[in-house]
Amino acid sequence: MTKKTFLRLDSPVQYIKGIGPKRSRYFDKIGVTTVKDLIYLVARRYVDYSTVLRIRDLKIEDEATIIGRVDLVETRRTRNRTSLTNVALRDGTGSVVLKWFNRPDLKRRFRIGDWLLVSGKVTSYRGQQFVNPLYELIGEEEIEQRKQGSVIPIYPLTEGLSIWDIRRAVRIAIDECLEEVNETLPESIIQENGLTPLKKALHHLHFPTSAEEAHAARNRLVYDEFFFFELILAQRKTRQQKEQGISMQDTGLLTKKFVKSLPFTLTQEQVGAIQKIAEDMALPKPMNRLLQGDVGSGKTVVALYAILVAIENGHQSVLMAPTEILAEQHYVVLREMLNDVGVEPCLLTGSIKGKERAAVIDKISSGDAKLILGTHALIEQDITFKNLGLAVVDEQHRFGVMQRAALVNKGVNPDFLVLSATPIPRTLALTLYGDLDISTIKEKPPKRGEVITKIVNEKDKRATFDFINKILAKGRQAFVICPIIEKSETMDLKSVQEVTEEIIAAFPQVSVGVIHGRLNTSDRMQIMNEYRHGGTKILVATTVVEVGVDIPNATVMLIEHPERFGLAQLHQLRGRIGRGAQESYCFLVLSRYVQPETYERIKFFERNNDGFALAQKDIRLRGPGEVLGKRQHGLPDIRIGDLEYDRDFLYRARDDAFELVKTDPDIALPQNKPIKVQLKQLANRAELLRIG
Ligand code: ADP
Ligand code: MG
Repeated sequence: MTKKTFLRLDSPVQYIKGIGPKRSRYFDKIGVTTVKDLIYLVARRYVDYSTVLRIRDLKIEDEATIIGRVDLVETRRTRNRTSLTNVALRDGTGSVVLKWFNRPDLKRRFRIGDWLLVSGKVTSYRGQQFVNPLYELIGEEEIEQRKQGSVIPIYPLTEGLSIWDIRRAVRIAIDECLEEVNETLPESIIQENGLTPLKKALHHLHFPTSAEEAHAARNRLVYDEFFFFELILAQRKTRQQKEQGISMQDTGLLTKKFVKSLPFTLTQEQVGAIQKIAEDMALPKPMNRLLQGDVGSGKTVVALYAILVAIENGHQSVLMAPTEILAEQHYVVLREMLNDVGVEPCLLTGSIKGKERAAVIDKISSGDAKLILGTHALIEQDITFKNLGLAVVDEQHRFGVMQRAALVNKGVNPDFLVLSATPIPRTLALTLYGDLDISTIKEKPPKRGEVITKIVNEKDKRATFDFINKILAKGRQAFVICPIIEKSETMDLKSVQEVTEEIIAAFPQVSVGVIHGRLNTSDRMQIMNEYRHGGTKILVATTVVEVGVDIPNATVMLIEHPERFGLAQLHQLRGRIGRGAQESYCFLVLSRYVQPETYERIKFFERNNDGFALAQKDIRLRGPGEVLGKRQHGLPDIRIGDLEYDRDFLYRARDDAFELVKTDPDIALPQNKPIKVQLKQLANRAELLRIG
């Protein structure tokens, strides 16, 4: 045979013999567009065919593997109009029937006399049978080897591709292009970590001779993934540390007055976090710190302290929030809190336009404004700061890295503090925020009332409303949350309007406010203010109140369609209550007809008030990207490694990466050449995606 085309690593998979443009679309669906992707395609799991049985020795209920020859193939329609493909397989000791439902294509795939390796569970129906077993067509010459046992990768499947199709394509890709793959790690790292060299690992990934070999191959790729991820972080961090920053001392000029004016004493952990931050700010290099703490743990005062340190030193501070409501709240609340201190904040959001905006922008560029609050409207191009000393990002998971960077770039290496209420496992922190120093507030301020959460259904509504009425009579307030503003044709969800009508009817004596994202700033601020000061007792809201809103007198929350929200999001919502000394109540109105998994999830939330556990579970259910915001940090993807399962590799790879940057900051040593080459490739990719 003569080869007509030359396959290369970067060739589209459609050039692999037998694929073509149509099939390549199926490969696309499992993330494979090039030959290289195919070579790096990791199996979901492996099936160990290590014991091949004789058909005569099969027993009902066995999980078994057999090898035999096709004796008969037929496809017919069953009574309920599905198709059934029967194959009789014979091996010299007996014969057995294989059955596939709705796979008429198999009739053309198997021919009489073909050798098949089959694996599955033996069941009984007029004799022994396998239903929908795993199978592989094998050559006669392979039989002896296969009887020794072999480990077969089970690839992620999509419609239109069988494991067999993928295996055949992989075989060609490996045969023709594996040589082209370059080792990415130096010998020393491979040795120290007992890793399989890359080429060998890629071969073993697809054609292992044992389960251990397959496992080691996967581990090699996991290590690589973590290593380069952490290496980029390590380089970033080193670069940051070399920058000349602003040294600002905590003089006490404003901060002392501020702490005195607070109606409470700071908790130990708040004081600890403040100390760390003040130390960072005093250093002549830029601070890069993450302050994490569960909802209601009191991060805002910590940030305020830092803000005042910057202002004491004659610099401007900016605090950016992800929603206008939160920015507006900061404005209202901080103005009051800072009154005694004599600092007057100013506000800039997307809704502030025209002359008003122009006036604010002027104050920012002249330096008259010392504390600037707002949303991402603050990062627009025409806004310049006179001398930004500290940038704070509240609820940072709602922002991408680009937005964070844009804010920081409004100054010359200002100190940078990010606040996050989604506590995350250490492994995730190392990856997501690997270039930040982390402070954590674990304890909430004392004398907080407990939050009691309860699932209810429509039938319990009356009783629930009666209960809420009693709480309102004691002077407390309530939130009612619904997922959508307007009724939609496609989804049977209650809208803000419907819910408001229901609430007004059920609470005729009570004043009800309504808030959502389609109102303008002044309306919204007025509504929030009325609620904050107790003018309205019940606030019907969409998720615009999800983050940061702080109304300690609100002690009841009723959430319609809780199934529409992720666990971390529900926790944020619930974090709006339980901020005062009173006991609080969160009711989840859940239909009785939801899926069992959904019920389980909401039940988990009902039982659990620990933001850490909820975030972890949410991450497991929906993936880190969904929970913590889309990754836009210009780092390579983590696709193979599992942050929890592979955490030992993560720690090792991180140590190795940071060590490397320490000993060879420019990655210039000859033995580190492979790393340099790989980094360049990754950088090109990031460039392609226009991020980083
Ligand atoms: P989050 O960490 O969710 O941003 P906030 O900073 O909004 O929390 O604080 C929640 C509430 O707790 C606010 O009303 C705040 O005034 C109050 N608070 C903060 N620190 C303390 C403290 N040490 N003692 C009592 N209340 C506090
Ligand atoms: Mg907050």
